[in-house]
Amino acid sequence: MSITPVMPVYGRCEVEPVRGEGAYLYDAAGNRWLDFAAGIAVNCLGHGHPHLTKIIQEQAATLMHVSNLYRVPGQTAVAERLVALTFADTMFFTNSGAEAIECAVKTARRFHFAAGTPEKFRILTFKNAFHGRTMMEINATDQDKMRGGFEPLPDWFTVLPFDDLAAVQAFMAGPNAHEVGGFLVEPVQGEGGIRPASREFLQGLRDLADAHGALLIFDEVQCGVARTGELFAYQHYGVTPDIMAIAKGIGGGFPVGACLATEHAAQGMVIGTHGSTYGGNPLAMAACGAVLDVVATPEFLEHVRRMGDRLRQAIEQMIPNHDHLFKGVRGVGLMLGIEMKSDSRAFVNFARSHGVLTVAAADNVVRVLPPLTIDESHVREFVERLSDAARAYAPPLAA
Ligand SMILES: *Cc1c(COP(=O)(O)O)cnc(C)c1O
Repeated sequence: MSITPVMPVYGRCEVEPVRGEGAYLYDAAGNRWLDFAAGIAVNCLGHGHPHLTKIIQEQAATLMHVSNLYRVPGQTAVAERLVALTFADTMFFTNSGAEAIECAVKTARRFHFAAGTPEKFRILTFKNAFHGRTMMEINATDQDKMRGGFEPLPDWFTVLPFDDLAAVQAFMAGPNAHEVGGFLVEPVQGEGGIRPASREFLQGLRDLADAHGALLIFDEVQCGVARTGELFAYQHYGVTPDIMAIAKGIGGGFPVGACLATEHAAQGMVIGTHGSTYGGNPLAMAACGAVLDVVATPEFLEHVRRMGDRLRQAIEQMIPNHDHLFKGVRGVGLMLGIEMKSDSRAFVNFARSHGVLTVAAADNVVRVLPPLTIDESHVREFVERLSDAARAYAPPLAA
């Protein structure tokens, strides 16, 4: 057996991008891909966005990092902007989505400690969820490919069917309801196959949380930051969480996340309860500020909604021409999923050789997550390339 210098935990493809420009990636040989994966919903402004790169360059030359032991330039300003733009009163900055979820769950647990209800330790989560890869977070999903080989895992999470309010109501009428301290849910599941929750489901969770003194936690790590055509998906639904984790798009490619909360929900997070060496450092805050400059305007959100409609229509028109391969399209804004009749991973790999990058997801879905800055020409090019790939593609024979 021979080990590679980088742990072989990813099934990597052969593409090695060395440069990006807008919605395109290039390798050293000059091959070009239309990037409708955007680093899995990270590069929301595309590659090499002039405002984002300029701000990061200036901040890197001025001050890259100081410890959270000091006042950190930019941190309060970004937090104030996010407070003004959301339900939240306060937040903690992290370096990843996983850490934002970690902080969200700690905030909920600390809330119940401070509120004198420490028996409410259990968090209800949902089938096919993806909340990150830490030892705690692989508990928060039923997906065996993430949990397998790591058991035993602590029993703090109960996984119920997604978008099935009756199942949650039944649990909350049962013998373990008194243990439930929170509901953790992606308003639009990403990795689980681009499944938007229904408004009734999210409102039902809100009502149950209120009735039982539990907290509603939204994982907007993938669906947040303008992806759905609202700055955050909860705004699209009109259902407000108590705690929300964000990451991916908020740095536009710089690794940064945040856990946002109401004052009420954050009451247990006092001095000494949490920390991070890098979280919210000046460079990260510069990146967040630059992304917000671009995305947090009514015009930009309108652009995302318009492009989302165009892209969806273009995909819908393409599907009947390849109905042996594709079933339909679902999603919100520029967070779309094409449902396939065969293995989506194999098709995503094949489409790469036709110059287009997408991401496979559960349930044989092709995730379409372009930069939010695309225009009509990219929509046309995407559908042309995907159609070319579909015409040339022979799905692997079913076993
Ligand atoms: C990507 C993702 C995470 C984990 O984020 P990392 O930055 O990879 O740790 C958590 N939740 C959702 C919904 C995600 O899409």
